[in-house]
Amino acid sequence: MIQQLDSIPEWDICIIGGGATGLGIAVDAASRGYKTLLLEKYDFAKGTSSKSTKLVHGGVRYLQQGNIKLVMEALKERGLLKKNAPHLVKNQSFVIPNYKWWEHPFYGVGLKVYDWMAGSLGLGPSQFLNKEETLELAPTLDPDGLRGGVLYHDGQFDDARLAIHLAMTAADHGATVINYCSVEGLLKANDKVCGVIVKDVLRNSISEIKAKAVINATGVFTDSILKMDDADAETLVTPSQGIHLVFDKEFLPAGNAIMIPKTDDGRVLFAVPWHNKIIVGTTDTPVDHPTEEPVALEKEIEFVMKHIARYLSKDPSYVDIRSIFAGLRPLVKGNTKVTAALSRDHHISVSDSELITITGGKWTTYRKMAEDVMEIAIHKAGLPEKECITNALPIHGYKETEDYNEPLYYYGTDKKKIEALIATDRSLGDLIHPSLPFIKAEIVWAVQNEMCMTAEDALSRRTRALLLDARAAIEAAPLIASIIAKELNKDETWIKMQVEDFNTIAKNYLPA
Ligand SMILES: Cc1cc2nc3c(=O)[nH]c(=O)nc-3n(C[C@H](O)[C@H](O)[C@H](O)COP(=O)(O)OP(=O)(O)OC[C@H]3O[C@@H](n4cnc5c(N)ncnc54)[C@H](O)[C@@H]3O)c2cc1C
Repeated sequence: MIQQLDSIPEWDICIIGGGATGLGIAVDAASRGYKTLLLEKYDFAKGTSSKSTKLVHGGVRYLQQGNIKLVMEALKERGLLKKNAPHLVKNQSFVIPNYKWWEHPFYGVGLKVYDWMAGSLGLGPSQFLNKEETLELAPTLDPDGLRGGVLYHDGQFDDARLAIHLAMTAADHGATVINYCSVEGLLKANDKVCGVIVKDVLRNSISEIKAKAVINATGVFTDSILKMDDADAETLVTPSQGIHLVFDKEFLPAGNAIMIPKTDDGRVLFAVPWHNKIIVGTTDTPVDHPTEEPVALEKEIEFVMKHIARYLSKDPSYVDIRSIFAGLRPLVKGNTKVTAALSRDHHISVSDSELITITGGKWTTYRKMAEDVMEIAIHKAGLPEKECITNALPIHGYKETEDYNEPLYYYGTDKKKIEALIATDRSLGDLIHPSLPFIKAEIVWAVQNEMCMTAEDALSRRTRALLLDARAAIEAAPLIASIIAKELNKDETWIKMQVEDFNTIAKNYLPA
């Protein structure tokens, strides 16, 4: 793919950014038949798209805020994604505990509306629960003052894995998608953007790429691309940080997630089972300067620790934290300083130079965002009209899946190919670490087929080791670096540097 960079004279669509938004656009553009290029500065989903709460959801909170349009759209997209990627999205049941008299009718009726809005794409009806039923489904809840609860369903997924499968879907349809290629400037002719200047970060080379339409899908870095176009451009994005803490499953053993719709200070808190651990979050903290590796603030960790203790079987302490991860929401600027009140809708703008920018939105709505921005890009670039087909387009690895506990299920049809690797070398079936559920074959597969270039790619996004157990991931890093080195023909110095680079990042995933 990197060779195609210099060999294609002009692309139809060039997408800057390989998160949920950019990858969704690559799938849409390539599946319509346009010559599509996606450039990602680091790794696919290195930014916000690997740090989400992992929910494919309509957003009960947005219903509470009265954003009916967003909820309707997200519920439709939730259903489509479950249909198109059954190997990547599972049905997750949630319990909302009710301690105040009004909460039972309020959330119960609200969730009936949520069911109704999902229509035929619903994941199962919500139910009113009495106190006993609530405690049966969520036995860790404090029974004192508990009046009952509501059970409802939403989707759950592995965000970085979906990102990789979107990259592969785009490639299956002919797109060129490249990680570690940073856009450093825009090419212009007659004041109109007609391409980009790209730095191949790993080989340290620069190329000029021509494209009929250039789409800025860089999340919290949106403004840096807008400034390349016009140094005086108004800033568009307000980054807002959200963190999650990861604990062992024993803290929430029943398999149902808990949703706290309103903490003392009015936020939503989730505790959700994920890859045999539980993830708890999140926060909403305005951030001035976005970075690619945001770090959780002590006050955010304290907030989550304090609130979740009320809903788990035993009060977790700092030594129980397996990992801490922080992500930045690319919220579209509004008239308020409170980021929690800013809209989660997506926003598309076209600059005077015809640079197209898309930001905001949610993972759940990536497909619709892509469809909307492509309609504009086709028109602006004068491309021949072609229908969007992504609402029924299977995602790479598509496989009907019922058992989400089966090892390697999330690879879908690629699972067989990973098993074939093990058949050639039994040792590839060994775990990468006794506390992590991933095997060596996954690393070999990732290097050979998923553009995994670094130990951090492997431990953070091809497997989710860093997010599930940061200490174990640090211990596994030398082994992972040596597996990658063997595949990429790298030496001992490279291995040492990979381990050092990984440890520098990973230490921020542990409490101080
Ligand atoms: C804490 C938190 C929880 C969330 N939970 C959920 C959830 O449960 N469900 C849900 O639906 N949504 C959720 N979201 C929202 C969702 O994660 C985001 O809306 C989505 O991931 C944004 O994707 P993006 O592609 O716009 O941005 P990003 O994922 O940040 O992608 C932008 C990419 O652009 C790249 N880039 C930047 N500059 C350049 C350049 N010069 N050249 C090339 N590439 C460049 C970056 O490296 C990055 O990879 C959550 C968000 C947060 C922060």
